[in-house]
Amino acid sequence: MKLVTYETSGDFQLGVLDENAQYVLNLSRSGLPNDMVTLIEMGPAALEKIKAAVEAAPRSAWLALTEVTLTAPIRRPRRNILCVGKNYHSHAKEFHRSGFDSSAGADEIPALPIIFSKAPTSVIGPNVAIPSYLDDTGTTDYEGELGVIIGKGGRCISKQAAMDHVFGFTIINDVTARQLQRDHKQWFIGKSIDGFCPMGPWLVTRDEITNLPDIELRTFVNDELRQKAKLADLIFDIPTIIETISRRTTLEPGDIIATGTPDGVGIGFTPPRFLKPRDTVRIEIDKLGVLHNVVG
Ligand code: MG
Repeated sequence: MKLVTYETSGDFQLGVLDENAQYVLNLSRSGLPNDMVTLIEMGPAALEKIKAAVEAAPRSAWLALTEVTLTAPIRRPRRNILCVGKNYHSHAKEFHRSGFDSSAGADEIPALPIIFSKAPTSVIGPNVAIPSYLDDTGTTDYEGELGVIIGKGGRCISKQAAMDHVFGFTIINDVTARQLQRDHKQWFIGKSIDGFCPMGPWLVTRDEITNLPDIELRTFVNDELRQKAKLADLIFDIPTIIETISRRTTLEPGDIIATGTPDGVGIGFTPPRFLKPRDTVRIEIDKLGVLHNVVG
């Protein structure tokens, strides 16, 4: 099931897409909430209600997707987006070499997951311009990532139970001001600039993704392929990440975890290739769609 948040005449609505992702059915008018996190909090009952709404809807109720403006599926997360740093073998090496890694110490490959966060105000939707002009260091870089959306919350979630707590997935661009990431040591400031977390185009429920390790992520800048990796390359897989974070911190419905980026980011090049105004960034993840943003 592909769920969207979209805007029509200043109102935000929840919708579900048809199988070919060409039409959208308004869910808020079928007795469902107009906020994605409220929907997620309803648990499995929400998915049953959506199925019933789809079955009951006349053909005329479906809008062409081209007629609506998609926002991020979770427009304004209630809490910071939780992120994993250096979580692909290839990127960990590339980042270590780049000179921008203030966390480096002696280890190229981290022994434990590195967790940081991005402010909720950094989230923007598909096709919205990434405001690189807010990064006065001119070192704006892209990071294509799989985003995991938590369904059922909890603390001390085991690896074995972890996937039962996943509501679905989306695509995230963990946009980063590299100089700020390096100079402030902690990564929050360089990662949390307003608009530096494009997300979307939609939320795909967990049942649609059965072969996580085979899923491939690709990032293009101006149609040039920069990143290409399978989730099998993750250093810490999704159950390990959920177990690690929830061991001491309660996860809540609607929490978002950005799982890290593979190699091929701008600082992996010599000299670095930072984003410039009018560049386009396109992140594709199998079964999750395409997240496209221009750089402003
Ligand atoms: Mg990242």
